[in-house]
Amino acid sequence: MNHRSKQRVLVVEDEKISRTILSALLKDEFQVILAKSGEQALERLASDDQIDLILLDVLMPDMDGHEVLRRIKAGDATRDIPVVFITALNSTNDEEKGLKLGASDYIGKPFSPAIVKARVSNLLRFVRQRKLLETLAGRDGLTEIPNRRAFDQALLQEIARSLRGGQTFSLGLIDVDFFKQYNDCYGHAAGDSTLKQVAKTVVDALRRPTDLAARYGGEEFVFILPDSDAAGGVEVAEAIRQLVAELGIEHGKSVVAPHVTISVGGVTVSGHHGSAEELLMAADRQLYEAKRLGRNRVCWSAPAPAVVGQTAPAADSDACA
Ligand code: GH3
Ligand code: MG
Ligand code: MG
Ligand code: MG
Repeated sequence: MNHRSKQRVLVVEDEKISRTILSALLKDEFQVILAKSGEQALERLASDDQIDLILLDVLMPDMDGHEVLRRIKAGDATRDIPVVFITALNSTNDEEKGLKLGASDYIGKPFSPAIVKARVSNLLRFVRQRKLLETLAGRDGLTEIPNRRAFDQALLQEIARSLRGGQTFSLGLIDVDFFKQYNDCYGHAAGDSTLKQVAKTVVDALRRPTDLAARYGGEEFVFILPDSDAAGGVEVAEAIRQLVAELGIEHGKSVVAPHVTISVGGVTVSGHHGSAEELLMAADRQLYEAKRLGRNRVCWSAPAPAVVGQTAPAADSDACA
């Protein structure tokens, strides 16, 4: 997900004067990162997965721009970053070569500042749109329900809303019980099929259009219920737990039931001031508790209600059913 306000441009250029000009030209609108050589650029790309666009000089000692581009296009993590060649080589042949290698655009030196800025802005707009589409499409490949990325975004939104308006919301973490044994016993393909059924059950159990369920990873799922108090959260969690049990998927290696079961840990918060990580950790502690108490159950943590005029703070309540 992209929380940065400024998009990031990597400028790869061996001449200091060109680096300075390009940096001055772009730094107000974008975050500019400078590299003096192809090697330096590739090193940066290996350690930094937040580059949105690359401006690449063609003529450089050691590794030239064409070679750098080839390597960028060969890397899974870098292949989709648009690359704009900037070079004094102005022949049509060179332009063709660059574009064939996968460059997105080509700017000849000496460059017009306005054109550089316009082309960079255009490409970065496409980058932003593509990322937005990916996020909106944020689906998990196996279960076809929203993925962790979509969930993370929804959670941040909910935290911001809760912080602004004091809204109460609930967050639940689901983990399939003894799933390693399930895979070992019935095979990975059966495991995949079970995960799909559990995913569908979780999604179908949600009632409001603003509720969201996602695959958090592996055999873990999450759900977020805006404007839901602890009673509502526990009710939904309990319904999901029962519906999964009622699927009746045989699990001969489970110690708690002859069929597949889940454990759920959750939290309800209002006016939340902490981070998403803290909230997920609090839900995870409840999940751990549900596992510890024997699995196939729901454990939930609710904060003490803020009572006006109350002298001593009421204790938070944790409960397992
Ligand atoms: P617990 O009851 O404590 O949760 O035990 P567990 O066995 O479910 O937990 P553990 O974390 O040891 O194992 C999780 C298993 O989930 C291991 C892994 O093989 C399986 N798993 C994770 N992702 C997938 C997947 O996409 N498909 C399949 N078939 N299995 C998966
Ligand atoms: Mg050069
Ligand atoms: Mg797990
Ligand atoms: Mg598990």
